Amino acid sequence: MVSVAAFAEPLDYFLEAGTSYDQSVLKPADVFGHDIGDQPIRHDLMVSYIRDLAGASNRMTVETIGYSHERRPILFITVSAPENLAKLDEIRANHLLRSNPETTDQALGDLPVITWLNYGVHGAESSGMDAAVPVLYHLAAAKGEKVESMLKNSVLLITAIFNPDGHARRGAWVTQYGSDVRALDPAHEVHNQVWPGGRTNHYWFDLNRQWLLQTQPESRAWLTQWHKWKPQVSADFHEMGPNSTYYFHPGVPTRKYPLIPAKGRELLVELGGYHRQTLDEEKSLYYSEESFDNYYIGKGSTYPQVNGSLGVLFEAGAQMGIARESDQGIKTYAKNVRNHFLTSLSTINGAAAMREKLHAYQGEFYKSAMAAAKEDDVTAYVFRAPEDPVRLHMFIDLLNRHDVKVYALKGDIKAEGRVFSDGAYVVPMNQRQYRMAKALFNRITEFPDKVFYDVSGWTLPLAYGLDYAAFDGNMRGKLGQKADGTFKMVMEPAEAPYAYVFRWSDYYAPRAVAKLLDAGIMARVVKEPVDVQTLSGTVSFDRGAIVVQRDLQTVPAAEIHALMKEVAAENNIQIHAATSGHTLNVGADLGGRNSVADLKPVKPLLVVGGRTSPYDAGEVWHLLDHKMKMPVTLVRQDRLKRLDWNRYTHLILVGNYGPVIPKDMVDDLKAWVKAGGTIIAHRQGAEWVAKNIT
Ligand SMILES: [Zn+2]
Repeated sequence: MVSVAAFAEPLDYFLEAGTSYDQSVLKPADVFGHDIGDQPIRHDLMVSYIRDLAGASNRMTVETIGYSHERRPILFITVSAPENLAKLDEIRANHLLRSNPETTDQALGDLPVITWLNYGVHGAESSGMDAAVPVLYHLAAAKGEKVESMLKNSVLLITAIFNPDGHARRGAWVTQYGSDVRALDPAHEVHNQVWPGGRTNHYWFDLNRQWLLQTQPESRAWLTQWHKWKPQVSADFHEMGPNSTYYFHPGVPTRKYPLIPAKGRELLVELGGYHRQTLDEEKSLYYSEESFDNYYIGKGSTYPQVNGSLGVLFEAGAQMGIARESDQGIKTYAKNVRNHFLTSLSTINGAAAMREKLHAYQGEFYKSAMAAAKEDDVTAYVFRAPEDPVRLHMFIDLLNRHDVKVYALKGDIKAEGRVFSDGAYVVPMNQRQYRMAKALFNRITEFPDKVFYDVSGWTLPLAYGLDYAAFDGNMRGKLGQKADGTFKMVMEPAEAPYAYVFRWSDYYAPRAVAKLLDAGIMARVVKEPVDVQTLSGTVSFDRGAIVVQRDLQTVPAAEIHALMKEVAAENNIQIHAATSGHTLNVGADLGGRNSVADLKPVKPLLVVGGRTSPYDAGEVWHLLDHKMKMPVTLVRQDRLKRLDWNRYTHLILVGNYGPVIPKDMVDDLKAWVKAGGTIIAHRQGAEWVAKNIT
């Protein structure tokens, strides 16, 4: 029998030996009601502890930089010497001046190093989250010359925690399977959280792939802070397989994104010396430069490296519960927290010791970026999406989030055989964020090392479906207004004499249609391109255009008009007022029998759970529910057979790790399709449909 107390550790266990602590500082157990290592720290208690700790300390401030989908706060803690905190804005302003090659000379003072620590991007990785607590306690309570000198030379930026919703799922799981006798057997439920697990956020996005894509509120919150400060070291705390020991960056030398300077890796090796020293003293097993990589720039440890910073990944052997058996004997969550605590300190102290080198590196990084831009044959990337200004501006917004400058195109330019003019935008290569801009548009098809941790390509204008081209001519006089990604369709729909018509290519057209149908308004979809006569002349529509006719509606015309104004404004779409049902296209009138079809509300069902990929299912759920505001019924794989299928119009099958439809359901599903049901499938889901539903 192993008693509970065997794995809980008193606060001293997590702290630095030989350091004396101010005993008046609030201790974690006073708020949590338990020691670290006894049970997971509940997110609300962690928030409460951090706010109280920072509120009483003259070394730290705390702010809420955003909320998760489930409305949990994401806390951002700034730690430094009190005299630095008193002039923090001045330090930040000078730090930014110094890091920019165009303004370096204007920077004043002997500036501190800016060190950033991310805790808990993956909600299932217990110690990666909870290590924030002893680290913050140490920073508030440690006494003596060592910590004071470090704080004088540093501004520490700490996010605790990155992914509160995943953290809460993991906390609930480990707590609900908590037992008096610790469950060491890896087969125990406590170590095997059910689908979707705790790694991801509410909509099952892997937030450690979100540094680039920025579609989630959590990642938007931190990246805004990151660029506000442009830290010089950026550390990310994780857990890996349970039988692994402890890992820290740098990773495999050849597995690196080509735009990361070699010097960045050299400095990572030097910083690694501080981690080695502390882990040697601890007699902890560890490794680096083996496995993991720095290729995909959307990870917390790689993104910094294309942004003038050192990104450091830390991974402890996984410990979902409190303790478990591994190939190397019993491992505890408390020990992982301690290791992450120690490497947090080695990061902080190492960065402070390397302050001058890191200042020089960041300055050199941006200087060499400007030089590389001059050498590049490409002078700018130009792009457009006349069919969908919302999607176009989402991309411009993304560029701004990465601090990449983008401008409206002035005049015409010819690039890759096409002429771009009014309505197109340009990203000039001649800018400080050259490497980031290049990384977003680049199309790399050859790789020196063909082994990847995961993502190997991400040309974003393709992901956004933009018409884009590389331009190699002179950019002089071509830059118009700087663009920030905000977009508002100003035109209000006129009252339609005959019908309202809008195109399908606008990003939020599906959301508009869903709302209209939900309000009981009848709408039709045009199956061929048509030229419609409207109050403002003839307007051409591609196939898929939506028609809301005046005829046969049960909703009063005034209400329909009010709703059309509402959906136009909400969705940034232009709604045209048709004057006639006759189009300029033979056999394609708006009342057409075959050329136009009536639209019916949809009732989609999304299969989740079991062998379904949470990432794929989450993306669909996020798109339909969060973006398009369409109800979608989520049903676990093992409940499919018990459903009344007549309730659903669409079945969505996403990527999976094995068949999700039971064999004895296939005939029923075929009959449902024959009766008019639609299956939307992708990846392995599509493969299954091709093989089984034909
Ligand atoms: Zn992780």
